[in-house]
Amino acid sequence: EFSQEDLDEKYVAFRKEKTGLKIALLASNPELFSNKRLIEAGQARGHEMIFLNVQQAYMKFDAKEPQIRYRGGNVIDEFDAIIPRIKPSVTFYACALLRQFDAMNTYCLNSADAITQSRDKLLATQLFAKNDMHIPITGFANSPLDTKDLIKMVNGAPLIIKLLESTQGKGVVLAETTKAAESVINAFKSVKTNILVQEYIKEANGQDIRCFVVNGKVVASMQRQAAKGEFRANIHQGGSASKIKITSEERKLAIKAAKILDLPVAGVDIIRSNKGPLLLEVNSSPGLEGIESATGLDIANVMIEAIEKKLKFKS
Ligand code: ADP
Repeated sequence: EFSQEDLDEKYVAFRKEKTGLKIALLASNPELFSNKRLIEAGQARGHEMIFLNVQQAYMKFDAKEPQIRYRGGNVIDEFDAIIPRIKPSVTFYACALLRQFDAMNTYCLNSADAITQSRDKLLATQLFAKNDMHIPITGFANSPLDTKDLIKMVNGAPLIIKLLESTQGKGVVLAETTKAAESVINAFKSVKTNILVQEYIKEANGQDIRCFVVNGKVVASMQRQAAKGEFRANIHQGGSASKIKITSEERKLAIKAAKILDLPVAGVDIIRSNKGPLLLEVNSSPGLEGIESATGLDIANVMIEAIEKKLKFKS
């Protein structure tokens, strides 16, 4: 049980009797499944769990006494750890808060830098390529003059077009023909919207694999299957999830992807192609609902344990 209102009381109670860690969940909606699960899991392990709303925290920059204040006055400076669960629309502000927590020597389960990097699809793709990760053939261009070659470069239509800001599959388009691809690409360019153009992995049959990585281990994995007539496997696009055994190559790919982006917690999406497993993308606030229900595993508990390990906490 927790509420925003008893924040002050909980601080007092905590100071009297410190039996567990004091952990804040930095997020936007306390009612979300993942957020509720993390609060529950922390409490079950004897920790003080407090929900902090990203937009109601603010900061004072100061070399000697950096501060985070909350809801018009409470100074909050005694957390042992922060679990960031950041929705894309508040990434900029939330990462400023995380840097502030870092300045106050509070451990963040996913740092501001790592989250910022992983949220930039272009930067992340470049980092993967630079680190020899297998990814679908992907191109990025600015001028409509280059569209024809861009299409050729990714093996022609059908091909995938991705808005750089896409999440939950919302900005991912399948262009079936060269004509469609050309007009969609040029349309996005004309409104100055940045897109990635990518080879279409047809043989994946609307399936992809989500690996949940915590501290360099794949702690759970599921296969997602797109709804009928859909190529995107995202749960938000009607995809369904089931447990899956991954290959050791897939496991290595997932672990390395999380490592490259420096994420202790990561949802790594992999697609099975004729060339072997390819890395699609890495999510820094991976949802718990799909993976916990598909695998029956308590991933929230694993995340809390990861914090205990990092802080060398023994109950
Ligand atoms: P988002 O970040 O919006 O979820 P993704 O790049 O993960 O975007 O793509 C969403 C879904 O679309 C993936 O989960 C996968 O099922 C499908 N998909 C993405 N890229 C490809 C591709 N190159 N070939 C085939 N399917 C793809």
